[in-house]
Amino acid sequence: MQNKVVIIGSGPAGLTSALYTARANLGPLVIRGLQPGGLITTTNEVENFPGFPETVGGFELTERMRQQAERFGTRFLDELIIKADLSQRPFALTTDSGQTIMAESLVIATGASPRKLGIPGEERLANRGVSYCATCDGFFFRNKRVVVIGGGNSALDEGLFLTRFVSELILVHRRDELRADPILQERAFDNPKIRFVWNTVVTEILGEDKVMGVRLKSLKTGEESTLPTDGVYPYIGHIPNNVLFKGQIPIDESGYLVTDGRTRTPIPGVFAAGDVVDHVYRQAITAAGQGCMAGMEVIWFLDEQEHFAKKAKLQMPAIQKPRPIQHAAILQGA
Ligand code: NAP
Repeated sequence: MQNKVVIIGSGPAGLTSALYTARANLGPLVIRGLQPGGLITTTNEVENFPGFPETVGGFELTERMRQQAERFGTRFLDELIIKADLSQRPFALTTDSGQTIMAESLVIATGASPRKLGIPGEERLANRGVSYCATCDGFFFRNKRVVVIGGGNSALDEGLFLTRFVSELILVHRRDELRADPILQERAFDNPKIRFVWNTVVTEILGEDKVMGVRLKSLKTGEESTLPTDGVYPYIGHIPNNVLFKGQIPIDESGYLVTDGRTRTPIPGVFAAGDVVDHVYRQAITAAGQGCMAGMEVIWFLDEQEHFAKKAKLQMPAIQKPRPIQHAAILQGA
């Protein structure tokens, strides 16, 4: 299947690229991947996306973006890309069903995934009390105690959402200062269900087939203790989803794809936008902005390719087989 534009990822970056390229009649194909709508669908309330004075849910926000892109002719495929061959154009993408998709241009908007703690018990107890998405399963912790790890916007945003259900929330942070926005800090400090444990890390998640507790270690005193809990939510940042592009596109030391500031990668026709490149802002609105940039770059790139192809077509016959002198003279004069 040959496509003018393929977009990998369906978060704000991918869907905005889709909107722009669809409105240019390029009929983009969006590969939605494992998490249609992207990571923001796990955010309960988005308060800082302009245009929604009463806040909007993360899922609703991207669903609206999807509908808007679809209205102008975007196509969607609910598959996962497992291989991307960017060695020549058109680029060849292989999906998990074995389908090959050819792309004259590509927008990489694969986003980022929650960073794991990498401690004993985390993998074993995933979905058995360890979760990375309060919006998805907070309900199951009704009247229970949960531990949230991290001091950024995600930890506080999701933590505040969890307080709708839980009886008590212990926020464990490795420093004695939060990095979350002041407005979220204020709400968390004012919330009677939230208790803070400072200068402390979780070293193990305890339990056999469900979470029973966590082992804590004070970074100030080195003292260890255990804390009974029913749930653990690590919110310690994200890692860019770059696996498909390793060895093909430059990646910085933190794992972000490197672009030139205009969303262009060193491979002509391949662009990248959103959380897979952005190590500074990482907001839905900046992802959407970069998605717009990538969409416009795609339009310009394909226009240029078409222009070159037309020019080559005009010149080719003259090079390949000599034309009658009269015709060649007209071409030269043109
Ligand atoms: P983040 O801002 O990078 O914060 C990660 C937190 O985890 C930090 O407090 C960090 O501690 C802690 N941490 C990192 N590694 C750790 C480890 N191994 N053990 C214990 N703690 C660890 O990540 P985020 O909160 O996921 O936010 C990511 C981006 O999304 C940010 O730009 C954020 O603004 C955005 N976001 C915005 C909203 C919103 O506006 N409502 C909501 C969610 C996310 P230190 O502070 O000591 O470094």
